[in-house]
Amino acid sequence: MPDGRHPDGPTEKCGVVGVSLDERDAARPLYYALYALQHRGQESAGIVTHDGFQQHSHVEMGLVGDAFEAEDLETLKGATGVGHVRYPTAGSVNSSCAQPFSVSFKSGSLGLSHNGNLVNTAELREELAASGHAFTSDGDTEVIAHELARNLLEADLIRAVKRTMNRIHGSYSLTIAHDDTVLGVRDPQGNRPLCIGELDDGYILASESAAIDVLDGELVRDVRPGELVVLEGDGAGFDSYQLVERDNTAHCFFEHVYFARPDSRIDGQLVYDVRRELGRQLWVESGVESDVVLPVPDSGRAFASGYAEAAQAEGAEVSFAEGLMKNRYVGRTFIMPTQDARERAVRLKLNPIRDVVEGKTVTVIDDSIVRGTTSTQLVELLRDVGAEEVHMRIGAPPIVAPCYMGIDMASREELIAAGCETDAIREDIDADSLAYLSIDAVAEALDSTRADLCLGCVTGEYPYDIQGESTDRDVIRPDIGDAAGDTGVAGSDD
Ligand code: SF4
Repeated sequence: MPDGRHPDGPTEKCGVVGVSLDERDAARPLYYALYALQHRGQESAGIVTHDGFQQHSHVEMGLVGDAFEAEDLETLKGATGVGHVRYPTAGSVNSSCAQPFSVSFKSGSLGLSHNGNLVNTAELREELAASGHAFTSDGDTEVIAHELARNLLEADLIRAVKRTMNRIHGSYSLTIAHDDTVLGVRDPQGNRPLCIGELDDGYILASESAAIDVLDGELVRDVRPGELVVLEGDGAGFDSYQLVERDNTAHCFFEHVYFARPDSRIDGQLVYDVRRELGRQLWVESGVESDVVLPVPDSGRAFASGYAEAAQAEGAEVSFAEGLMKNRYVGRTFIMPTQDARERAVRLKLNPIRDVVEGKTVTVIDDSIVRGTTSTQLVELLRDVGAEEVHMRIGAPPIVAPCYMGIDMASREELIAAGCETDAIREDIDADSLAYLSIDAVAEALDSTRADLCLGCVTGEYPYDIQGESTDRDVIRPDIGDAAGDTGVAGSDD
């Protein structure tokens, strides 16, 4: 976790990018953009460029900085290309699933980057295999690449993409290099983000607008759900085709809560602003009097500042302090296969400042609780350095179910809130009080409705039909009814 997220937190799956420039090679801008998207995946990094009909590819396991040498970028010729950073949730953890995925066929070649997770991979793979397609990986991205290649043999580009979109089901944001054209495609419900930016000498498609910022570009807009965007080969502009329409969207609310960078704009909203608003709502719903509000760094910071600001605006005598210091150097080299190792990781990563905490009542603000390991350790750490009371406030609803749309949320057995009341969790983590944010407050902060968000991991009800998909994770559909959105405040003594 080089970006310093929780040792036991959910894990992002993949960042995608695509650029089309006027004359200069696309490799360097792609490389910088991948750096900006590194938080979305750390297992592998890759770039595929097209120089006319010549395809160049460099895909390696590891972080962006380790995957590319200067000379690798020199070999990636061509003004168009796509890039990818990967965290695996579908397919193996090895180079066969690293992306962009390249495929050559009779009338050209494709480089394809995918963020998301299909829910009908097995069925499509079987059909494609029966018609002679040979697979080299067990991931869903290769299935998309073969399906698109097959359709390109029978139809023009737009029709081929449309046919592909009608066949693949689930969550996908794609950037595709097809000969010297770059395409961006977002699934009809817009589960994963994808946006368009304008550069000095071309256009870029990226999972997050932070990747446009690092290239001094301007965010043009989000790619719409069900839309195909085609970047012109000379970087002069782009064309848009609304290929599939749906009544509802299914934006992943967790992008705003946790995955995306706070400096990114997603679906029209700055992630930082959303997190601050979630923090303000957290105070409104379950504010508790205490001497000091502490964010869990870094992810809880924006929530905590919104919470403290709302508390102070109502006259609460509470200060906001950075009372937990993070060791930024505990990263991927720290192997965490066991619960004991995960607990050790928390102690290595976070150190409380005694002077800020000793003799005080403390409210700790975090974005989520997954396994509960971090929260339990934090409460213990804060008590060890003299906190009189420790209250936990969480800027999202309880995570009660796994994610099938491309986020590694941990299995059902590992989720502390699966089938567990808030008070039992409070007891487990030994906090004086614990409260989560309601689903309705999340929807409001996102200027959305429950119907237009994916809330699968907090309700167990998914916007995609996941029943046919083979998975090693059980679906749980807890009997939560309307209460799913209620704020549970456990043991509050305010
Ligand atoms: S289940 Fe949760 S993490 Fe997965 S896409 Fe839906 S909201 Fe996002």
